[in-house]
Amino acid sequence: MAASVPDVDSVRAKALQIFAEKFNEQATVCAYAPGRVNLIGEHTDYNEGFVLPMALPMITMIAGKSHDGRKSKIISASDIVDVTNEFEFEAGKRSDIKPGEPKWANYIKGCIANFICDVPAFNAVIVSTVPAGAGLSSSAALEVATYTFLEALSEKKPEKPEQKALACQKAEHNFAGVPCGIMDQFISVMGKEGCALLLDCRDLTTKQIPMIYIDDYVFLITNSNAPHKLSSSAYCERRDCCYDAAKILGKKSLRDADINDILALTSRNNASDYIVRRARHVVTEIQRTQDAAIALEKGDFQLFGRLMNESHDSLRDDYEVSSKELDSLVSAAREVDGVLGSRLTGAGFGGCTVTLLRKDAVNKAIQHMKAKYSGVPEFYIATPTGGARDVSVN
Ligand code: ADP
Ligand code: MG
Repeated sequence: MAASVPDVDSVRAKALQIFAEKFNEQATVCAYAPGRVNLIGEHTDYNEGFVLPMALPMITMIAGKSHDGRKSKIISASDIVDVTNEFEFEAGKRSDIKPGEPKWANYIKGCIANFICDVPAFNAVIVSTVPAGAGLSSSAALEVATYTFLEALSEKKPEKPEQKALACQKAEHNFAGVPCGIMDQFISVMGKEGCALLLDCRDLTTKQIPMIYIDDYVFLITNSNAPHKLSSSAYCERRDCCYDAAKILGKKSLRDADINDILALTSRNNASDYIVRRARHVVTEIQRTQDAAIALEKGDFQLFGRLMNESHDSLRDDYEVSSKELDSLVSAAREVDGVLGSRLTGAGFGGCTVTLLRKDAVNKAIQHMKAKYSGVPEFYIATPTGGARDVSVN
C-alpha cells in the first residue's frame, strides 16, 4: 500500500496543538508550503533548460504568533533535525541575522533575512509531512512555508510570486550553503491543483500544464531510502562538463545546442567522450521535457511514459547519476503490466523514483518493487496539489 498522507487540516491541527502546549497560548498565524516531485527534466536547470515538477500533498506547516519581546523562538516537531529541535535568536533588523547552529534553522533565518521588511519577534512551531533528504524538497517546503508565514505575520507581500521564490532560493544559497537551482522554490510557491508546472530556467517563465486526462493513470513515488546522495564534487563535475561543452561549441549554454551540435562535438579533438555524453544527456533531456509537457497536456500518457524511460536511461548511461538501488526500482517497475514509464527523480544517486502507471496497477507495482528491491522502499501517490498559502487558525 502507498503511505497515506495526512491532509492540510490535520497537519494544521497538530501544529496548532503543539504550539498551544509549548507556548501556553493560541497561535494566530498558520501557513504551509508543499514538497514536490520533478516528473522530467533532470540536470537541465543549470543549463538554462526546462523542468516539469508538480507540488505534492506532503507539506510543511508553520503555526505561530508575534510578541513584544526581543527573541524569536522556533520549534521543529520533526525528528530529522540536528543537535536540537528548537532555537532562539535575536529579532530586529533582518540584516543582522547570520547563519549558524543548528543547521536546519539556517533555512528559516535565511528567509527572515531575505524577507521584504523586518518582522517582529515571534514564536513558532513547524510540523512537516515531507520526508527530509529524500529528494522531495523538504528544504524548499520549509523555506516557502516560512516566507508565507512571514507574509501573513507582517501583512506584506512582494509584488510578484517570482520574487518570493527567488528570496527563498537565496536563503538556501547564502544561509544553508546549498547551491540549489530555482525549480523547488518555484513549484512550492506556484503549484496549482491538478497541474504540473513547466518552468523555463532561462527566463523563469512558467506554464501550468493541466492534467485533465489523467483519470485512469497516476504518478507513484518510490522512496529508495538509500542513504547515498549526490556529492557536491560529483555535482560540480557534471556542471563543469556542461559549461565546457557549451564553450567548445561557442554557445552561451547547452540550451542553445541541439543533437547536431552533439554530433559535431563528437568529432572535435578537444571534447572527450565523457564531455560528449554529459552534453548529450542535457540536450536530449531539454527536448524530452518540452515534448513531455505537450504529451501531458494532450493526455498522451504512452508517450509521456516513454520519455520518462528515456530520461532515466540517459541519466544512468550518459550522465551517470543513477545508483544500483534506483536502477533496481526502475527495472522492477517497468516489468509490471500497466506501467508506462519509470525514472529516477531529483539529482540522483539516492532519493526517489517516479513511475507513471494505470491506477489499477498500483498495488501490483508496489508488491513487485518491494519483492525485487533489497532495501525497504516507501510509496506515495503523487496527486498534483496547490502551492503555498496561509490558512485560518480557527
Ligand atoms: P530535501 O530538500 O531533498 O528534502 P535537503 O538536504 O535539501 O533534502 O533538505 C533537508 C534539510 O532541510 C534537513 O536536513 C533540515 O536541515 C531541513 N529541514 C527540512 N524539513 C525540516 C523540518 N520540518 N524541520 C527542520 N528542518 C527541516
Ligand atoms: Mg532540498
